[in-house]
Amino acid sequence: MDDDAPVLPRIRPEIASLPVYRQGRQAAADAFKLSSNENPFEPLPGVLTAVHEAAELNRYPDAMATRLRERLAARYGVAVEAVHVGAGSVSLIAQLILAAAGPGDEVVYAWRSFEAYPTLVAVSGATAIEVPLTDDARHDLPAMVAAVTERTRVILVCSPNNPTGPVVTHDEFAAFLDAVPRDVMVILDEAYAEFVTAPDAVDGMRVLGLLGRPNVVALRTFSKAFGLAALRIGYAIGHPRVLDAARATMIPLSVTAQAQAAALASLDAEGALLERVAAIAERRDRLAAGLREAGWRIPDAQGNFVWLPAGTHTEAFAEAFAEEGIIVRAFAGDGLRVSVGEEESVEKVLRVAASVVRTLP
Ligand code: PMP
Repeated sequence: MDDDAPVLPRIRPEIASLPVYRQGRQAAADAFKLSSNENPFEPLPGVLTAVHEAAELNRYPDAMATRLRERLAARYGVAVEAVHVGAGSVSLIAQLILAAAGPGDEVVYAWRSFEAYPTLVAVSGATAIEVPLTDDARHDLPAMVAAVTERTRVILVCSPNNPTGPVVTHDEFAAFLDAVPRDVMVILDEAYAEFVTAPDAVDGMRVLGLLGRPNVVALRTFSKAFGLAALRIGYAIGHPRVLDAARATMIPLSVTAQAQAAALASLDAEGALLERVAAIAERRDRLAAGLREAGWRIPDAQGNFVWLPAGTHTEAFAEAFAEEGIIVRAFAGDGLRVSVGEEESVEKVLRVAASVVRTLP
């Protein structure tokens, strides 16, 4: 050891071994950045105005996001207390896991799924139980039920699944809930819900109304369909007492007044924003169809991204895309996730993907 090395405070071993979250590579100005499932459309003028007119910068925001929660409660026909707002849905996942699971407890989720899950579970001190996806890149819900033990406190279900694309169906989810102990929290992460076109997909808002399960919390975000990723705002719908536990763990005042104002303005402009979502879903379907035609085995794509299983070729293929000015997300040894971006990116992605697939055995 270097004698000059300073003595540093002790860090919990499970944190010291955690990788620090990094975004995909930064894109050159003229590249298509298709690595973070962002919305390619610029904000609507009305949303920008709302951000500029939001409360003064020297004042704290409304910690309870009251107007936005009232608005969402009215939209979904639930009590205001059944709505909770966070600085992105990722912070809501963190709060819910912290509220329910700690050292000695288990959190079950499908793998591969959203990259933040393992980190957030590790931070809570709980043990992650990863259940492999099926061969067609879907959640294996019966296997997830089989993974439940008396130590299970939380199950995360991601629909559509990031990064692979398929949804969980309503019937599958209802059967799953029947099999899961009622005292286990089920987080239904629906970050990409608005892009779903499969008629049999689970819809958390419908599940909560229909099945009335107090152990289910549905999560949505303004980052993807509504294009507010930079402002960090998402929401949870669930049982008020469960959400109170999440509220108890939150970092106070982390949802800015600007984010709350933008979310409200986005709900005002929902019709126009959902037209953009429909355009993105149409591009996605064109992309998936073209990739399949080129020989790719693309799982059902229901978010604003497609999954290219590339195995050991993943990193080389990501490099080939980058050389053509397309930044994609590479999951080493597994596959590439390509977000659905600008209209002009569709043809370009198809061209590069068709040329690299020929090198696959
Ligand atoms: N859940 C899933 C499945 C995601 O892919 C993401 C973003 N990549 C999030 C949650 C978090 O989104 P945000 O914090 O921007 O709301």
